Amino acid sequence: MKLHLIYNPNSPRAWNGREVRVHKAGCRDIGRDLRGATSDMTFDWATQAEAATDWWGDFIAGGEMTEADALNYTDFLPCTAGLPEGTTTPEGDTAMTTPEITTTQAILAAEVRNHADFAGLLDTWDDARLLEVIGKARTLKTAMAKVALAVAIPANPVPEEDAAQGGTPSPEEDGKAAAEAAAEAARKAEKAAAAAAKKAEAEAASNARRVALDEKAAARLAARPEDQRKAITDALAEHPGYIAVWPKAAWTTLKLADPEAAGEAAPAWMILCNTHGEAKAIASSKAAEAEGKKDTLPTWCKGHAADAKAAAKAEKAAAK
Ligand SMILES: [Zn+2]
Ligand SMILES: [Zn+2]
Repeated sequence: MKLHLIYNPNSPRAWNGREVRVHKAGCRDIGRDLRGATSDMTFDWATQAEAATDWWGDFIAGGEMTEADALNYTDFLPCTAGLPEGTTTPEGDTAMTTPEITTTQAILAAEVRNHADFAGLLDTWDDARLLEVIGKARTLKTAMAKVALAVAIPANPVPEEDAAQGGTPSPEEDGKAAAEAAAEAARKAEKAAAAAAKKAEAEAASNARRVALDEKAAARLAARPEDQRKAITDALAEHPGYIAVWPKAAWTTLKLADPEAAGEAAPAWMILCNTHGEAKAIASSKAAEAEGKKDTLPTWCKGHAADAKAAAKAEKAAAK
């Protein structure tokens, strides 16, 4: 279904806490919801899950959000009735790991590049560009739809009559061929411009989402009690380039926000001990939950380990 997705990080009360509203493309209520929105896009998505995970894909991949979160943030309005819910992970399958996603993306990219519909069109694209456009697509159909949108051609173009058939071209046909070649070049230039505009739009939308999420993280830190906030802020000074994303009572998830300031090989995520200021690299934002458990903290925070040792010693002395 062709949908019109609208993103408003400061969503009005009527949006019930959702930041994304999805209308059927052309719905007459779209104009009203565009007021105050920071970005919007139209796209042909097959299911609710596909639309939501597509829009929030970079955050799902970064471990900042689950697919369920993505659906919770996205409101499918009554005009989209008939759009199937879909599943957030392929049927009978568990969520893909990051290496699995990378492999799937590479396979999809190769399939799209070799697909007859795109013959010659993607020759000027490097692999990075193709992978970027495909994003977190999980099926060849979705990947093709995304590429088609980027090069602004229909996903299933009507096969053209083979103009080359019919023997040696006459001089008139030569002239006609030259005109056709010029028209084709103009079409390609137009497509390239459309693709560039689309890319800029997607980048702006992604930046808006990033800014909104960072603002929320800052609000969470501001909401912590004074002493915790001070401890976290002091510790952050020791870890330049990081921001506090999920400040909890005992620990805080740190996200790499400025790789240049953080230095070479800085991990994307860290967990910080609020008490001792020690930080440990973690694979994803989610991993902090396990690392922050009371019994786990002393396994990586020297301060916690020393405290545990001192407590045990004091207990022993008291027992004597
Ligand atoms: Zn609507
Ligand atoms: Zn500690």
